[in-house]
Amino acid sequence: MTRIWTTLDVLRWTIDYFKSKGIPSPRVEAEVIIAYALGIKRIDLYLQHDKPLSPEELGRCRHFIKRKIGREPSQYITGQREFWSLDFYVSPDVLIPRPETEILVETAITYIRENFYKFIIDIGTGSGVIAISLAHEIDNIEIVATDISINAILVAKKNAAKHSLSHRIEFVVSDLFKGISRAKQFDLIVSNPPYVAIDDYEKLEPEIRLYEPPEALIGGEDGLDIVRNLISEGVEHLRSGGTMLIEIGQGQMEKVERFVRNLENIKQIKVVKDYSGIDRVVCIEKG
Ligand code: GLN
Repeated sequence: MTRIWTTLDVLRWTIDYFKSKGIPSPRVEAEVIIAYALGIKRIDLYLQHDKPLSPEELGRCRHFIKRKIGREPSQYITGQREFWSLDFYVSPDVLIPRPETEILVETAITYIRENFYKFIIDIGTGSGVIAISLAHEIDNIEIVATDISINAILVAKKNAAKHSLSHRIEFVVSDLFKGISRAKQFDLIVSNPPYVAIDDYEKLEPEIRLYEPPEALIGGEDGLDIVRNLISEGVEHLRSGGTMLIEIGQGQMEKVERFVRNLENIKQIKVVKDYSGIDRVVCIEKG
C-alpha cells in the first residue's frame, strides 16, 4: 500500500531535506514553497495539517522543492515579494527588493513632506517598489521611474497597475538620466543603484549570484562606478533646494562623501543608517 502523506508530513519532510542540503532559513523556505505548491496561505499549512494530499499535489510539491534545492530564490518561484507592506510581483528580470530599501522610502517620505517636494524621479526602478510605495503613500506628487532594462520596466508597470497607480507614474527606459530631457529638473532624486564591488559579488549567496540580475547588483571594482555617474548626472537635474537620496553598501560612505565634496552647489551631505547601524542612505542636498 502506498503511504498517505498529509500536509504536515510533507512540510516536516521538506524542512529536514532543506536542512540536510544547507538551505538557509529551512523552515520559512519550506513553508513558503509548500503553501505555494498547494495554493494555500502559510497559516493554512497548520490549520489543514492532517489533510491527505493528492498525487497531483505531491507532484507540485516535489517540483518546487527541486527548484529550491537548486538555490532558486523562493520569491522568483512564487513571483511575489512584500515591500512597504504591499505585495509586488518579481521575476528574474529584477532584483528582489531588500528590507533596507524601506529606509530609503522612509527618508524620501520625510524629505517630501518637510519640503513640499512635488517632482520626483526614481532611477533604476527595477520592480518599481520605491516609486510605487511613494505614490501609494503621498497623493500630490508626480513621479518618473526609469530603468536601463525594458524587461524591468515591464515588471514595474505590472506592479503599478496591480496597485492602481499607473496614472501616477511615468515609466521611461533610460540609462541613468540619458533618456530624460536635459532641461528637466526634479525636487527629489531617489535611487537604489547597483553598488556591490566585484570581489564582494563573488562571495554572495548562490540565490543571489545564480539568479538575480548581475547588472542590478555590480557597480565595478569598488562598487561605486554607477553611484558616481548617478551623482554627477543627478546634480544637473536637481533644482536648487532639491535632494538626492541614494542607497549604498557597507563602508562606502567615506568615499562617496569625498566624491561629493569636490562638486559645486552642494549644501549638505548626510547619511541615514539602517537597523544594523550600517550607513545606508546618502542624502545630498543641493544649495
Ligand atoms: N543590498 C543588496 C545586496 O547586497 C545590493 C543591492 C544593490 O546593489 N542595489 O544584495
